[in-house]
Amino acid sequence: MEMVEESSSVTDRYAVIGNPISHTKSPQIHRAFAAATGQDIEYIALEAPVGGFAAMVDELRQAGTLGLNVTLPFKVDAFAYAGVVQQRARLAGAVNALKFVDGSVIGDNFDGLGLVRDIAGNLRHALRDRRVLLLGTGGATRGALLPFLEEGPARLAVAGRKHAAVAALAREVAPDGGIAALDYGMLAGQGPFDVVVNATSASLRDELPPIGHDCFAPGCLAYELAYGKGLTPFLRLARDAGAGRVADGVGMLVEQAAEAFAWWRGIRPATEPVIRQLTVPLI
Ligand code: NDP
Repeated sequence: MEMVEESSSVTDRYAVIGNPISHTKSPQIHRAFAAATGQDIEYIALEAPVGGFAAMVDELRQAGTLGLNVTLPFKVDAFAYAGVVQQRARLAGAVNALKFVDGSVIGDNFDGLGLVRDIAGNLRHALRDRRVLLLGTGGATRGALLPFLEEGPARLAVAGRKHAAVAALAREVAPDGGIAALDYGMLAGQGPFDVVVNATSASLRDELPPIGHDCFAPGCLAYELAYGKGLTPFLRLARDAGAGRVADGVGMLVEQAAEAFAWWRGIRPATEPVIRQLTVPLI
């Protein structure tokens, strides 16, 4: 009897979940990575109803999906959903990538790592022995503090609107006091800094966090986490104050995606061509 061999090649499935999701660039990024590395994957964008994250992920797992990126507002739901959570995600209190392996659910958070890779790698602005200031105490800052500390800055400071919240966060990540906790009123006289990162969501509303020119050391890097918004009020202030380089978060977005892709597929894609494709000039 002739045996007919069935094709075992089934395209591996991944997705990004958020709400809203129409703005996402993740499918474009992951498809570009897959094409460049010869990986046969399908990657789609899905909108889950608020409160419906776990039910949607249950369904996707049953249908054989192998991994997910998670964006607003579900990063905390993803943290709760994961059975195993990597340390940086635990400190962030948020998961932005899930991997499903042999019935278990592993969660990680690559946002902070992506930010550090963009600053230290792509922008060639080493963080070691530099004075670094992060603005904001939200999820993005929570995820970035540990990767920043690991780079060995001379000083790492976080500023936020509520001092008690900043102090609690700084203590949680660095119980030895390695992170200076400031509110905006305390910032005067603390600078200047070599790297100033706006990890607040102020730019999404065209607002400026309450900081002055004295934060920015001559020639410093000013980094805006929001992307695709051109010169935000923060980046404009930084330029006026003499920053040597201003950048938005598009490189961070692509770098965190590359981390997730490598985690899922075991192969690291080149990020530079994708960053170039997505970059909008800062004017
Ligand atoms: P969160 O909502 O978790 O936190 C927002 C933070 O911004 C809070 O600390 C809030 O302060 C502060 N804030 C908001 N408005 C102002 C203001 N006018 N002045 C001072 N502080 C303000 O957001 P995330 O941390 O998740 O995201 C922050 C930014 O990073 C967003 O712009 C987001 O789009 C971007 N991002 C970019 C990524 C990328 O890949 N490039 C990835 C993740 C995020 P308070 O607590 O006092 O209200």
